[in-house]
Amino acid sequence: MRKLIVAGNWKMNTTVPEGVELAKAVVEKSAELPANVSLIIAPPFTHLCPVAEVLKGSKVALSAQNCADQTKGAYTGEVAVDMLKSVCCEYTILGHSERRQYYGETDAKLVEKVKLALAAGLKVILCVGENIDQRNKGEHFQVVREQVENVLFKFTAEDMANVVIAYEPVWAIGTGVTATSEQAEEIHCFIRSIIKEKFGSQVADDMTILYGGSCKPSNAKELFACPDIDGGLIGGAALKADDFIKIALSF
Ligand code: PEP
Repeated sequence: MRKLIVAGNWKMNTTVPEGVELAKAVVEKSAELPANVSLIIAPPFTHLCPVAEVLKGSKVALSAQNCADQTKGAYTGEVAVDMLKSVCCEYTILGHSERRQYYGETDAKLVEKVKLALAAGLKVILCVGENIDQRNKGEHFQVVREQVENVLFKFTAEDMANVVIAYEPVWAIGTGVTATSEQAEEIHCFIRSIIKEKFGSQVADDMTILYGGSCKPSNAKELFACPDIDGGLIGGAALKADDFIKIALSF
């Protein structure tokens, strides 16, 4: 049985006190969830320490939104994997489309980051997904294949136990336009087939693949009912504890 996950990417939202309140509300409501659903929240770096305190003893795991591609030293403004581990992060998101688009995150850089994250004992949520031009030109399968191959094919089948993939069509992120369940399932199934080609059926069957892009309480049930969709990476709706938990109750 693969892991069902709902992960909240807070992006650059909330002050520290607001984030702590939001985390408390998520922990409180997480008691309603069935045991087979895992919750993750990914607040900004500044929030990790106080939010880790709130999450202690709860079933909600902590994630960063990014990590440095170096271990330590003269890299002003960067945050290293050991620093994330030291504040009880279990995961880091990597390759979010906003980082690819605004901060020049390349697949080559992502290989370095995934390497460091896994070596430090962090689990990785690797984001992939096409933009609207690529979708309109029918290039989405190729784009997603390249993103998966360029990064994950540099790793081993054993490494895949600590990797979650998030398919996030860029045209659906923060736009209110969600991929239809058919569109999402088609790509999820395709991603699983790529993982199977390289790492075999067992790894493919065990791989958790999340959908991200305007997922909300009103559409989560239909998306999560698809056989290859194992949960969601949630942006906007993760900023309201009620909505976030409603999404997690949609399996
Ligand atoms: C995201 O940024 O990962 C995301 C899915 O955002 P939203 O849910 O707001 O579309």
